Amino acid sequence: MSTTQDKYQDIRDAVRALCAEYPDEYFRKVDEKRAYPEEFVDALTKAGWMAALIPQEYGGSGLGLTEASVIMEEVNRAGGNSGACHGQMYNMNTLLRHGSKAQKEFYLPKIASGEWRLQSMGVTEPTTGTDTTKIKTTAVKKGDRYVVNGQKVWISRIQHSDFMILLARTTPLADVKKKSEGLSIFMVDLRQAEKSGMTVRPILNMVNHETNELFFENLEIPAENLIGEEGQGFKYILDGLNAERTLIAAECIGDGYWFIDRVSKYVKDRIVFGRPIGQNQGVQFPIAEAYIEVEAASLMRWKACELFDAHQPCGAQANMAKYLAAKASWEAANACIQFHGGFGFACEYDVERKFRETRLYQVAPISTNLILSYVAEHILGLPRSF
Ligand SMILES: Cc1cc2nc3c(=O)[nH]c(=O)nc-3n(C[C@H](O)[C@H](O)[C@H](O)COP(=O)(O)OP(=O)(O)OC[C@H]3O[C@@H](n4cnc5c(N)ncnc54)[C@H](O)[C@@H]3O)c2cc1C
Repeated sequence: MSTTQDKYQDIRDAVRALCAEYPDEYFRKVDEKRAYPEEFVDALTKAGWMAALIPQEYGGSGLGLTEASVIMEEVNRAGGNSGACHGQMYNMNTLLRHGSKAQKEFYLPKIASGEWRLQSMGVTEPTTGTDTTKIKTTAVKKGDRYVVNGQKVWISRIQHSDFMILLARTTPLADVKKKSEGLSIFMVDLRQAEKSGMTVRPILNMVNHETNELFFENLEIPAENLIGEEGQGFKYILDGLNAERTLIAAECIGDGYWFIDRVSKYVKDRIVFGRPIGQNQGVQFPIAEAYIEVEAASLMRWKACELFDAHQPCGAQANMAKYLAAKASWEAANACIQFHGGFGFACEYDVERKFRETRLYQVAPISTNLILSYVAEHILGLPRSF
């Protein structure tokens, strides 16, 4: 249900057909057990969707963020949760754009074949939160290794990934001219790291989202795992973050359509006071409003994708797409749960699960307030507040 046709119908049809093999009951059971949708992610991988962004020469399909966004949207639109596997899509760009030829040759074919997963990105820290340039995790070069010490929080899919992209400070904040300098990114072999200096503590949370605290105590990483130039990591990670925001916008759009489809059907069928509840304008208008907002958010998503794929600056569009889409899916979720009445709270209707899942995107990967602050200061030129 969308007023706009796009040229990605083939991708949509193929992903929908795959998702149809994993109906509501599958995701409901996975959620109940707090499990990982292993079979679903395997199927996406085997069908090549998880390697969409990997160039053909390395065994992928060489598609852009635009197509990746359609894949993620369709997963959520079908009732699933891309949060289980979206990391590989946005982390990929960091490696593709800033990794060396040798790194690409080493990692990409095995990721494309599904032998390895690159699902994790370690940025957030408990004591610095959104103030990323203040992170305290350090990586100090010692001969042919970097020695990492510090702590991360909310680092997702560690138990279902082989590698993580890690952001750490390589030059102390006090020694750099700009606070965004002196940060570097590394590929971390997670299974190796767990044996030699990285401790993982899972965080049980409101959604079935596998996420963890990480503690680093003299974790040694080979110097060749540095991505790009030392000290330029913040710039590189921004590419990954813009891709992440745009993809999560697409997931919210998928959620938004899912809520609108479900509630529209329900309010047509549910008879109270002798008529369908959907005959009341008090019921119709919030659903219509959410639909308008989802469609509008989708337009900004296309814009962000187009700029990203053309290697143009897209920070504003990626942030605005994420803002609009997360807000629209949340409005749709509220309308959906409200007009299901008590049944919205019954797990077997799946509304409460999707409601919890989509709520996350007001906070992560960047909070709504921080997007407003970015637009106010960086686009409108208002005085900086921090
Ligand atoms: C389930 C889950 C999975 C995650 N996965 C990952 C991951 O894989 N990798 C990773 O690196 N991180 C991950 N995160 C972390 C996520 O990106 C952060 O939670 C998010 O960026 C917000 O940071 P914070 O929690 O430190 O909030 P804080 O920075 O402490 O902010 C808290 C709230 O205060 C408000 N606020 C803060 N500063 C300002 C300001 N200047 N102006 C106005 N309002 C402000 C905002 O509303 C914000 O929501 C995940 C988080 C969750 C919950």
